[in-house]
Amino acid sequence: MRAIGNWVGGKAVAGTSGRTAPVYDPARGVQTAEVTLASADEVDTAVTSAVEASGEWAGLPSSGRAALLFRLRELLDAHRGDLAAIVTREHGKVLADARGEVARGVENVEFACGIPHLLEGSHSSEVATGVDVHTVLQPVGVVAGITPFNFPVMVPLWMMANALACGNAFVLKPSEKDPSASLVLAELVQRAGFPDGVLNVVQGDAEAVDALLTHPGIDAVSFVGSTAVARHVYETGTRHGKRVQALGGAKNHMVVLPDADVEAAADAAVSAAYGSAGERCMAISVVVTVGPVADPLLDAIAKRIPDIVVGPGAEPASMMGPLITPEHRERVRSYVDGAADEGARVVVDGSAPDGPGFFVGCSLLDDVKPGMRAYDDEIFGPVLGVVRVATFDEAVALVNANPYGNGVALFTRDGGAARRFERDVEIGMVGINVPIPVPVASHSFGGWKASLFGDSPIYGPEGIRFCTRPKVVTTRWPDPATSVIDLGFPTNR
Ligand code: NAD
Repeated sequence: MRAIGNWVGGKAVAGTSGRTAPVYDPARGVQTAEVTLASADEVDTAVTSAVEASGEWAGLPSSGRAALLFRLRELLDAHRGDLAAIVTREHGKVLADARGEVARGVENVEFACGIPHLLEGSHSSEVATGVDVHTVLQPVGVVAGITPFNFPVMVPLWMMANALACGNAFVLKPSEKDPSASLVLAELVQRAGFPDGVLNVVQGDAEAVDALLTHPGIDAVSFVGSTAVARHVYETGTRHGKRVQALGGAKNHMVVLPDADVEAAADAAVSAAYGSAGERCMAISVVVTVGPVADPLLDAIAKRIPDIVVGPGAEPASMMGPLITPEHRERVRSYVDGAADEGARVVVDGSAPDGPGFFVGCSLLDDVKPGMRAYDDEIFGPVLGVVRVATFDEAVALVNANPYGNGVALFTRDGGAARRFERDVEIGMVGINVPIPVPVASHSFGGWKASLFGDSPIYGPEGIRFCTRPKVVTTRWPDPATSVIDLGFPTNR
């Protein structure tokens, strides 16, 4: 069985803990590799390598780091196909979707190529007589990145592009469910010419995560994953004095007003709910219909479901691949199986497994309400619930009462309603006639409420802020002729 290990000090290093986890090809339902799960000692080795590399790396001029990022961008560009194929093989998403993931990851490296400009500080001259002040942004030191299974290329790039660009060393702990892409990224970073130890990868599970969260060599932690683990990461990391941004789970609503184009809204709902088999933190999992749009929209969505080709991600005809593990498939099925008992109406039941791979079909539930498991939980599978409400205000109140606050979409032709929605909705990322409003790399990504712990969204300008510490320098070049002793508190006049 192929063993997937770590990357430390610029080279591949086999895991030594003796603990492993299976890695599957979810489309065939077979184990293809085993990933070694790092011990605290192995994490220590990786962090030590990063700490040792960080000083010299931080001292390299930003133009030098930018030159390496440009090279990394070219290498990533040349390997888009390989990376996407690995994502499809271990995650299961269809190739076109995997290519989209890689593209959205590379965007972050392109953004980071502008690092000399992004690290521009500020300068105020003559704030007092003969006194100037300037602010510089310095790296925090070593940043750890802990990533989920659903974007094994994009989310590591969200984190590492800015962390490295700002002059930090980076230790990546990828998901143990689809770990191979992380080692390709490490190799490309190496080939681009980044110094040894600036990027290290440790494979592992909770043991490795906890070792990172408590390690004195780690200065900041970027986490993306489920809400329960995000809360744990935030609380443990901050208790150990680290800067932490911990992005959690989601339950994203798509509100459809009566004036919306029903066919376009149905296309958007189907794409955003069933794309990547619903395993996206920005997937739409609830459609909120306002007034009379409910029946025509439900019919339009149901009519589209039989046309969705479910199959292995590597086959060009497939539109939706399998789920990540057999356990996750059982969990997703349980929501559809239990929906009728909870009072929902099962319009389309796609929950029966099909083939040896971890496939389920698309399911559609009507009359879903808060208090039902199918509404309250993040299902993270191809199950779309419809909640019927009578008014715009009811729709906004429903969305705002939800404990998650990642993404939301509004479908309408009414600009005034859209403006009101944008102002009143308590969600971090809002799409107006855009079902999956993942911000481009020059803006930042982050939810509200239980979808983000900490005060810092990820990537974009907020990512630069997270990866740096501001230092304010006050300078005076006194004329020796005017120098006097003054024990008073310095004033600005
Ligand atoms: P997960 O929380 O199970 O795992 C995420 C990471 O945490 C992995 O690296 C895993 O090894 C580690 N981990 C798991 N359990 C742990 C524990 N008890 N202690 C310490 N570390 C632990 O998430 P997942 O299943 O890999 O990914 C799916 C989840 O991620 C969904 O909830 C999804 O909404 C969320 N997600 C959020 C965003 C976002 O930007 N908000 C993006 C992608 C995914």
